[in-house]
Amino acid sequence: MSSALSCLLLPLLMLLWSGQCVMSRPLLAFLIDGFRADYMDGLDALPGFRELLRRGVTVDYMTADFPTLSYPNYYSLMTGRRCESHHMTGNYMWDEHSKKEFLIGINPDSRLPMWWDGAEPLWVTAQKASMKVHMYYWPGCEVEIRGVRPAFCEEYVYNPSLQNLTDSIHKALNVLSSGQAHMAAVYWEKIDVEGHHFGPDSPEVRRAVLELDKAMQVLSRGITEKNLEEKLNVLLFSDHGMTKIQWMDKVIELDKHINMSDISKMMDRGPVVSLWPLASKHQQVSHAEHQYPERFFYRGGKFVSPLTLVAEPGWFIAENKRLLPFWKNDSSGPARGWQHGWHGYDNEFLDMRAFFLAAGPDFKQNVRAGPIQTVDLYNLMCRTLGVEPLPNNGSWSRVECLLSGARESTLCYGMVLFSVLLELLLTPGH
Ligand SMILES: [Zn+2]
Repeated sequence: MSSALSCLLLPLLMLLWSGQCVMSRPLLAFLIDGFRADYMDGLDALPGFRELLRRGVTVDYMTADFPTLSYPNYYSLMTGRRCESHHMTGNYMWDEHSKKEFLIGINPDSRLPMWWDGAEPLWVTAQKASMKVHMYYWPGCEVEIRGVRPAFCEEYVYNPSLQNLTDSIHKALNVLSSGQAHMAAVYWEKIDVEGHHFGPDSPEVRRAVLELDKAMQVLSRGITEKNLEEKLNVLLFSDHGMTKIQWMDKVIELDKHINMSDISKMMDRGPVVSLWPLASKHQQVSHAEHQYPERFFYRGGKFVSPLTLVAEPGWFIAENKRLLPFWKNDSSGPARGWQHGWHGYDNEFLDMRAFFLAAGPDFKQNVRAGPIQTVDLYNLMCRTLGVEPLPNNGSWSRVECLLSGARESTLCYGMVLFSVLLELLLTPGH
C-alpha cells in the first residue's frame, strides 16, 4: 500500500475503531417554558404533538435541575451541567464581591460575562466549530459568551405572540433547509405566564397548550413541505413544571421570623430565597439551619448565598404579604392580581417535572421511554448535531435508547465497506 493512501485509510479505521462515526444533521430545538410533563397527556386533542410523536420519542418525564427555575435550567439544558457546575443558580443572583446583580436577564448587568462564562452552552460550541446557530427569543442569545455570539439572535421579549412563534418556525425551517444554519433554537414563554397567573390546572393553561399545538401543526406541515422528514431532528423540551399555590394562605412572611435589618441582601421570593446576613448576625438569623441535600447539586455555585431558604411545595416565601409579586390583571391602578402557580421547589416534587419530545431521522418512532434528566439532553443534541460534547453531568445511558441508531450504523457500515474495498484494491496481487 502506498504511504499516501495509508495515511488516508489509517484515520478512517481509527475513527471506526473508536466508535465515533460522527453524525451531523440540522437541529431545531424548542424551549417551552413551564410546560409540565403531564400537559401533553390527552394526545387526542393535540394533533400537532401527536404527529411529532408518530415520528419520534417522548419520555415519562424529565427531572429538572434544582432550583426548578428558568435560568438555571436553561443553562443546564444547553451545557449538560448541574447548576453548581455552570453557576447560573437563580433567576435572581448577586455577586457579593462586585455587588453586581442578575435580575432575571432584564437589567444591563445581566449581560456581563461573569454570569454566563461559568460553562459553555451548545450554541457557542457549535459556532466555534464553524456551525451557524439562529436563535429566536431565546433568553441570553444576545449575550457574548466566551467571546462568541450566535450567527443570528432575535432578542427575547416578554411573552411573544403566537404570530411571533409561527414566524420563528418558518424562519428557522428556511435557514435550516437552505443550509444557512445548522441549528435553530426557539423559545416560547406563554405556557409559563398563564401557569403563574391562573394555575397549572386552569382553562387558560389548557388554551395555551392548544394554541401551542396549532404551532406544532404548522411545524409538521413545514417539515413535510420542505421535504425535511429524513433530514431534520426536532427537540421540544421544557425547563420545569408548575404547581398551584394558595396566596395569602401559604405565605411565609420573613419579617415575622427574622429581623430584616440583620440581612444585608435578599434575592428573589417564592420557593427559593437567597439571604446574605450581616456577618455578625448569621447565628441569630439561621437558628434552624439544615444542609442542602447532595442531590440538589447546588451548594458549590459561586453565587450561592450563605443562607438559602427552600419552601415546602405550595408555600411562598416573601419579606411580607405586601411585597408579594402581584401581577397587573386590569388596565388601571397598581398590580393586584394574585399568582396561582409557581415553580422552583425541590426537583423531586412531581409537579416540577419537565417534558421532552424528539422527532426526526435520528430518533426512534412512536416510543415512550423512561424518565431522563435535564442535564442528559446536551449529549443528545451534540450527537445529532455532530458536535463533540464538552465535559458534562449528563448520563449517556439514560438517553442512548432514544436514538434509532439507523443512520449511525448505515454510515459506519458504509465506511467499513469502503475501507475493505480500498484494502483489497491496494493489496499486492489484486
Ligand atoms: Zn415561571
